[in-house]
Amino acid sequence: MERYRGRAAALATMHGKERAFARPFRALLGLDVALPPELDTDQLGSFDGRVPRAGSAEQACRHKALVGMASLGLPLGMASEGSFGPHPALPVLAAGLEVMVFLDQDHGLEIWERLIARRTNFDHRCAAELAGLEGWPQRVGFPDHGLIVRPEQPWSGADDLLFKDLQDQLQLAEAIGAAAAGSINGRALVETDMRAHRNPTRMACLRTLATRLARRISTPCPACGAPGWGRVEVVPGLPCGWCTQPTSLARAELFGCVSCSHTEELPRPDGWAKADPQHCPLCNP
Ligand SMILES: [Zn+2]
Ligand SMILES: [Zn+2]
Repeated sequence: MERYRGRAAALATMHGKERAFARPFRALLGLDVALPPELDTDQLGSFDGRVPRAGSAEQACRHKALVGMASLGLPLGMASEGSFGPHPALPVLAAGLEVMVFLDQDHGLEIWERLIARRTNFDHRCAAELAGLEGWPQRVGFPDHGLIVRPEQPWSGADDLLFKDLQDQLQLAEAIGAAAAGSINGRALVETDMRAHRNPTRMACLRTLATRLARRISTPCPACGAPGWGRVEVVPGLPCGWCTQPTSLARAELFGCVSCSHTEELPRPDGWAKADPQHCPLCNP
């Protein structure tokens, strides 16, 4: 895909995401990432929860990309947006959903990639003092991974109290003490910092996501040649190895184009043609 070689795309980020995005776009597309100056993406919904995100993650992501493009006057742009919470399949595990978009206004293209991050440190604890956390900060990767501290139930006037970018145990202990003092119940709420530049685990996920998106953009549609050909859906119904009834496992993958209506159904990349009967609703109800 030569279309983007030597060109620049706006990347709207306040949190150092160019460290994850620049290399795959340069290597796979010859495309450079340009950072808009003085962009306050926190105003578009921030990770400390003070500015709630308006609309879906996809809407926020597209809006962020457009803000960056308008700021630099570029027809190309990209942005990503993360959401964190219980894993959709295993609610006891934390997971992150990362979405990323590439916009090409010259050709009216909008190319998406999504990633469920099973490896995330997303978590929180409440405590009156550092000792009450019993080693939890180390388990979530502090201080390489950031923590955000605020009162669990702030007194009126303490709602703005918030500590981030803490460097060590001493600063963390002080922040917990100050936040606990500002809380009606005397406890601080300590949360993992999910901003990319303070969360190396998340930054690694973003690198994977950006590599997949750049690869998708570099793949032309076999029918019309537009960039962005890739998997759009998995097709369930892999037959059971005993009774041949369809299971909920993927039977095939549907590939699609972002520009024309062309689609193709391709076999599973692992070549499986039969499901283990443990996944069968009839053989293993
Ligand atoms: Zn069966
Ligand atoms: Zn096409």
